[in-house]
Amino acid sequence: MLTVHAMSFEIKEKDLLARIGKLKTKSGSLETPLLFPVINPSIQPVPPKRLKEEFGFEAVITNAYILKTRYQNKPAEQGVHRFLGFDGAVMTDSGAYQILVYGNVEVTQPEIIQYQEQIGSDIATILDIPTGWKITQQHAEKTVAETLERAKAFFQTKTRDDILWVGPVQGGRHLDLVAQSAAAMGKLPFQIHALGSPTEVMENYRYDVLVDMILAAKKNLPIERPLHLFGAGHPAMFALAVALGCDLFDSAAYALYARQGRYMTENGTWSLSGLDYFPCQCPKCTGTTPKTVAALPQKDKEIFLAEHNLYVCIAELRRIKQAIRDGRLWEHLEMRVHGHPALFTALKKLQNHADFIEKCAPSAKKSGLFFLGSVGLARPEVVHYGNRLRERYSPPQDSKVLLLAPQSRKKPFHKAKEFVKVKQVLQRFDEAQSGMVHVCFYAAPFGVVPMGLDEVYPLSQHEVALPLDRETIDYVANQVFEYITRTQYVSVVLVHDLQTWGNTVKKLCRTACRKKGVSFDFVDAGAEGGKKILTRLELILKKHLSE
Ligand SMILES: [Zn+2]
Repeated sequence: MLTVHAMSFEIKEKDLLARIGKLKTKSGSLETPLLFPVINPSIQPVPPKRLKEEFGFEAVITNAYILKTRYQNKPAEQGVHRFLGFDGAVMTDSGAYQILVYGNVEVTQPEIIQYQEQIGSDIATILDIPTGWKITQQHAEKTVAETLERAKAFFQTKTRDDILWVGPVQGGRHLDLVAQSAAAMGKLPFQIHALGSPTEVMENYRYDVLVDMILAAKKNLPIERPLHLFGAGHPAMFALAVALGCDLFDSAAYALYARQGRYMTENGTWSLSGLDYFPCQCPKCTGTTPKTVAALPQKDKEIFLAEHNLYVCIAELRRIKQAIRDGRLWEHLEMRVHGHPALFTALKKLQNHADFIEKCAPSAKKSGLFFLGSVGLARPEVVHYGNRLRERYSPPQDSKVLLLAPQSRKKPFHKAKEFVKVKQVLQRFDEAQSGMVHVCFYAAPFGVVPMGLDEVYPLSQHEVALPLDRETIDYVANQVFEYITRTQYVSVVLVHDLQTWGNTVKKLCRTACRKKGVSFDFVDAGAEGGKKILTRLELILKKHLSE
């Protein structure tokens, strides 16, 4: 019968869709997010033993198909750990990538499953059929169907239950197929899932497509199972993939790039020959110069670059894990995506998935938010607040007049000096009358913030970059419009801050009021002198309260 190691993955911390988790394998527990350096025994620039001892990689991945065709029985006799000289966890891929490149492999699925069991992989993969990039819907459908059939057959073939088996999701850029494949694979008792064929997507710099692919898979897979992203080896995109809920990665890029003289950084790739300075403090780069390294024999140069690339990868993963713990993964992600327009494009795509991310992500954290611009509108904290206000908030019962005051730099807004003057005006009314005035702030990025809620996290725990961009102003104005439309005030008074908001909020306020048939007035906070505003505000409120 099928058994699932339900407890093989334990989630410790979360931020966005990212998690720090513990994956139990028969060779020990691994902390995720985790990068598996790809080991190719015939051209390995850094011995696996050193990867663990010097670099801190707890796991590696190698290709069972290559082991089987090149080394036949030796890995099976010795066990893959001894064969590679690695006492951490070993994951094996099955030859699917070779199918993608060569169209076919000379091995059957039962053979490659049995082989992975013989060599003693800790994590092993079925022989899926990769979808690839430039192919028709019809062909993509075939790869999905065939992969699913093999996945089902696999459970009749496997004999070992101490191996974590990977059920790959296919479909390529055909998102409906990715969703379908994920839903079907998720019903089978795999311990790990993987997203196939993103290498070509990444080679074409289509990180925006990758976002859709990952999320199509994520939305349809059991969320508690770890997800491996095949072939995602560049540190510049780790933050994006982790934020979308990828827990495991493999990188052949560290070695491939090294062979081509390419120097990775968390912000992009440089050619060694084009570098005058090393922007890195890893043990390799400290104490030498690009010129010195460029003069080394090819083999030494390659080893130098491979080792530096690995240091960069593991350092970036550590930063990401710390960011998850601190609840600052979004801030980290925004910094990283500025390394390449294609990555920034991908971040913009998150707006389309904001509701899903909000549903899965923690909404309260220990740290404040930095709002740098409209991409931040997709943040779960912003979406969460908007939903909560819409679904659960209604104004105090006796409120008649909505008084909308602008945000201030100082928070909470109701304690800022800009608001003190407005408060003084309210104090000129008796209690019954001022009780009918409901004060709300309009503020980026959250929209409408009722006084009294403005100290609730994160409404005071954020910093906003000014001046606001167009999309942010539109978002807040729309929130104001919606708020007026769904509430039952008799009239609306806007303290208008032209300098920060232009006329957008005012315009939508007026439209909403017209639509609701309620009266609307405004005072210009900046244009008129201080005293004048207050007198005008008092007059307006008097008028509205007597209506
Ligand atoms: Zn370095």
